[in-house]
Amino acid sequence: MAKKAVLVINCGSSSLKFSLIKPNSGELLVSGIAERLLSADAFIKINFQGDKHIHPLTAPHNHQSALEFLVKFLYDNALVAELGAVGHRVVHGGEEYSQPTLIDNQVKATISRLAKLAPLHNPVNLIGVEAAEHAFKDLPQVAVFDTAFHQTMPSKAFITGLPYKLYEQQGIRSYGFHGTSHYFVSKQAAKLLKKPYSESSFICAHLGNGCSIAAINNGKSVDTSMGLTPLSGVIMGTRCGDIDPGIILHLIEQLNYSPAQVSTMLNKESGLLGISELSNDCRTIEDAILNDENLRANLTMDIFCYRIAKSIASFMASLSHFDGLIFTGGIGENSDLVRTRVVNSLKLLNIELDPQKNITTRFGKSGLISTATSQNCFVIQTNEELVIAEQTAELIGREQ
Ligand code: AMP
Repeated sequence: MAKKAVLVINCGSSSLKFSLIKPNSGELLVSGIAERLLSADAFIKINFQGDKHIHPLTAPHNHQSALEFLVKFLYDNALVAELGAVGHRVVHGGEEYSQPTLIDNQVKATISRLAKLAPLHNPVNLIGVEAAEHAFKDLPQVAVFDTAFHQTMPSKAFITGLPYKLYEQQGIRSYGFHGTSHYFVSKQAAKLLKKPYSESSFICAHLGNGCSIAAINNGKSVDTSMGLTPLSGVIMGTRCGDIDPGIILHLIEQLNYSPAQVSTMLNKESGLLGISELSNDCRTIEDAILNDENLRANLTMDIFCYRIAKSIASFMASLSHFDGLIFTGGIGENSDLVRTRVVNSLKLLNIELDPQKNITTRFGKSGLISTATSQNCFVIQTNEELVIAEQTAELIGREQ
C-alpha cells in the first residue's frame, strides 16, 4: 500500500469531488468534480497532466455514472494499477467514530443511522461509498469523519444547556465539523513554528462557504463553534450561525412559519446572502464595498468579521497557552479584507497584522502574516484530501 495512490471521494447531493493522491509524496495525479448529478445536463471535469477534460455524463446521470466514467478514464490512462484504496469524506461519525474506519456493512449501517444528525450529508456520503464499492470491487474503502477530530472535546464543551437526558437518550450535543481541515492546518502551523504538535495550541478559523472556529490545545480539539449541525457558530455564506433560539419559536408561534420554512431560512437564506441581499459569495460582497461603496455590503462584512473575532476571543478560555491564530478556507486563505477586519477587533489579544504580508499571502500561499511583536497569525492553505489520503493509507497499512 505504501507506494499506492488513494482515490479520495467527497460526495454532495448533486456533486462528487475526487482526487487521486499519492499519500507518501502528496503528489496529486488526477482531480476533478462531477456536477449537476441527477439532472440531464450532468457532466464531469477531470484535471490530468495539466489538461482539463470535460464530458457529459450518460443516464442515469448519477453518482454511479460519474464513478463509472472515472474508472474508464483511470483504465484508459493506465492509472488503475496505481490505486490501492478509496478514502471517503463522511460528515457525521457521531460519538461512534473518532478515527478513520474501514468500511463494512456494520459501518454503513451506523453511518445510515447517524443520518438523523446530518440528513443533508450522511445519506449522500453513503451513496458515494456504495457507488465506489460497485466501481472498485477489490479495493478497501475507508471513512474519514468530519466530526472525528473534535471527539477529544471535554464534556463541558460539548454538552448543551438543554436537559441532560436529551444528550443521554438522543445524542443531542455539539459534535463540530471541518475536523479534517482544522487538524491539517494546525499541524502545518506547528511545523512552521518547529514545535511538536502535541505541545502546540491554536485558534483556527476555517472560513469558506461554511465557517467554523476551533480551539486546539496541545494538538487536541477542545472546543469548536459548530454544534449538533453545521448551522451554529459564526455567520456563513447562507447559514445564520448562532441566534437567540427564541427567534425560532417566535417565527413559528407568532409569524406562522412552518418548520420547513424556518429550516430553509436558517440554512439557505441567511448569512452573507440574507444580510446583504446581494450574494453568499464573499468576493461579490467585497467588490460591492470597494467598487460601489455599498453600505449594506459594508455592514454585512462588519457583522461577519465582528462575530468571527468575538468567537476567536471566547475560545481563549479553552487554551492553556496560545501559539497563534490560523486563517484557512476559501475566505480565510484569500481575503485580506476579512483578515484585517477580524484582527482589528483583536488588539487586546495583541494580534496585529503586517499589512504587506497580509496582502501578499493569498492565492495558494501559506505563512505568517503578523508583525514581529504580535502574537502569531498564520494563513494556511487547507488540504483535506491529502489528510484523507494519508489516513486511509495509514489505516490500510496497519491492517495488512
Ligand atoms: P470554500 O467553501 O472554502 O471553497 O470557500 C468559498 C468562499 O471563499 C466563497 O465565499 C468565496 O467568495 C470565498 N473566496 C474565494 N476566493 C476569494 C478571494 N480571492 N477573496 C475573497 N473571498 C474568496
